[in-house]
Formats: sequence, structure tokens, C-alpha cells
Amino acid sequence: MVDRLGEPLPTPIFDELAIIGVGLIGSSIARAARRRNAARRIVLADISVAVLERAKALALGDVVTDDPARAVAHADCVILCAPVGANEAIGRAIAPALRPGAIVSDVGSVKGAVVAALKPSLPAHARLVPAHPVAGTEYSGPDAGFATLFMNRWCILTPPEGADAEAVTKVRAFWEALGAHVETMSPAHHDLVLAITSHVPHLIAYNLVGAAADLEEVTQSEVMKFSAGGFRDATRIAASDPTMWRDVFLNNRDAVLEMLGRFNEDLTALQRMIRRGDGEGLFRLFTRTRAIRMGIVALGQDTAAPDFGRHAAEADEPIR
Ligand code: NAP
Repeated sequence: MVDRLGEPLPTPIFDELAIIGVGLIGSSIARAARRRNAARRIVLADISVAVLERAKALALGDVVTDDPARAVAHADCVILCAPVGANEAIGRAIAPALRPGAIVSDVGSVKGAVVAALKPSLPAHARLVPAHPVAGTEYSGPDAGFATLFMNRWCILTPPEGADAEAVTKVRAFWEALGAHVETMSPAHHDLVLAITSHVPHLIAYNLVGAAADLEEVTQSEVMKFSAGGFRDATRIAASDPTMWRDVFLNNRDAVLEMLGRFNEDLTALQRMIRRGDGEGLFRLFTRTRAIRMGIVALGQDTAAPDFGRHAAEADEPIR
């Protein structure tokens, strides 16, 4: 198998990396960091005994512990990879144990609320550089992770005003080592962009699949048996982790509600076009949306290949 992640770095970016939350994202970071020698030592912590057992069995880190404070004690970089709603408590738990100047980062799909939850509890010497790798699958847990998850995906950094420049540079270099492209923006802008590109689409998928499950005239077995491409894709998204997505909507409320408002207006306009038989209007919109899809493919963020149930992790290695 060709190692598309590249050769191990001659010098690790971090001496000791602590990862709190060893699920899909945390375990993928551990695998990729190990493979690229991006951290000399990797320490893993999780709240779940079963997850810790799997992390040990899969040899994902050098040390595995259930104590977040112990995990961060010698780390020059800590990445919080638990669901967004857990960050405040984790921040409080690790704060007294952080090494002077330790970098604290995260991977949360929401940024404004994460910064607000973390900043007050962290000591002044800690260097906060929040991040969001825009990469994932509908699977959860340490067995779902894989080293190439972040390859050619974007990772958005949202450093707070006055963030330490060296810390930002190191976090950027770390994500680039994991194969990601890195962009920087404000937490508020991140939350608005992700509301329309990720959060609202998930909500629509949850709603669509929920509505189909509630239909009285069509049986559930008919829904499953005759599911066409669009519905099948929606069920894949609607299978995403309930805890993670509950936390996303509770923590990005304003941006999601704003985008939903616009979405509802556009949906009403579409309803009107259908009612009035406005084929020209429908055709114009569908032509515009097709161009966006072609733009995504041209940017290498998806493939033009037909999707007959292809696995979300179409990287060159299986999920493990
Ligand atoms: P996941 O597979 O469910 O992993 C989360 C892990 O964190 C689980 O093992 C969970 O244990 C553990 N955890 C929960 N509370 C904890 C605590 N207080 N202390 C330590 N560990 C704790 O979730 P994921 O998909 O990796 O998502 C993790 C983060 O990545 C979320 O913030 C999410 O917004 C972000 N993210 C996800 C994706 C995606 O597509 N999945 C993409 C980009 C970013 P239990 O199972 O026992 O709860």
C-alpha cells in the first residue's frame, strides 16, 4: 500500500501530545501523528473504560489513562477530541495540571461556544489555538479512525485575538503533517460557514429520515427497500453520532437558526415554483446548484465517480 501521508518527519513537531477523547477523530489524529512522527510521545485519555481498552489493544498511544489531568501533565500540546459539550468540564479538569506554555487545541465542529467554554478555565500561560478538521465519517469510536482521514481535507484554525503566533504556527504545521490544508478565520465566521455547509444539511437529513419513518401511508420496509440515491445519502448522514450532533446544534444555535430561516424562505419559493408549474425557474436553480457540485469536485473535495454505496472512507486503507 502506498503511504500517501508521506515519510515520517525527521523531527517531531510536539514532544508529547495529549489527546482527550479517543473516538473517530482522536484516534485518527493519534494514528496519523504516529505515522508521520508528528509527536514523540502520545498520551491518550477517555472517559470510557471500553474505549481505553480498545486504544490499548490497537496500540494507539504510548500511555492510556482515564485521568485527563494526568494525561496533560507533561504535554506541550493537548487536543480535546470529546463531544463539544464536554469541553468545559475537561478544560476545568486539565487546567491545574497544564505545563507552562502548553498549547491547548480542540477539534470541535463549533468554535464560538468552544472558545467561550474553554477560555475562562484555562490558566493565562496556556496557549489556546482552537481547530476544526472538516473531515469525518458517520462512524464513531477508536475502531472507526484511520490515519488518512485528514488527507486533502481542510482544517480551520480559529485563534482568539492576541493568540501566540508560535503556537498557531505549530498547530498549523501539525495539521499539515497530517495531510490537511489549513485556513484561519474568526470563530463567528467559522460557525456561520459550517452552519450552511455541515450543520443545516445534517439537520435536513435527520428531518427527512425522521419524516419518512413517521409516514403512515408508506411502510418502513418500503422506505428501506425502494430507497433511491438521495434518500440513501440522507440516511448515511442521519446515522451520525447523536451525542456529537446534539452538542453541535445546542452550541451553534444562532448561526444554525439564521441559516434555517434563509433555507425556509428558499424552500417556500421552490414550493411556489412547483405549484405554479414554473419549470424555467426550477431548471435555472438546478443548473446553478449543479455548478456548485462541479466546483467541489474540481477542488478535490469529492470524486465525480458514481456513488453506489461507496464507503465514506474512500482513502487507500480500510477503516480500522
Ligand atoms: P466519538 O467517536 O464519539 O469520540 C468521542 C470520544 O470522547 C468518545 O470515546 C467519548 O466517550 C469520549 N468522551 C466523552 N466525554 C468525555 C470526557 N468528558 N472526557 C474524555 N473523553 C470523553 O466522536 P468524534 O466523531 O471523534 O467527535 C469528537 C469531536 O470531533 C467532536 O467535538 C466533534 O464535533 C468533532 N468532529 C467530528 C467530526 C465527525 O465527522 N465525526 C468531524 C470533525 C470534528 P463515550 O463514547 O463514552 O462518550
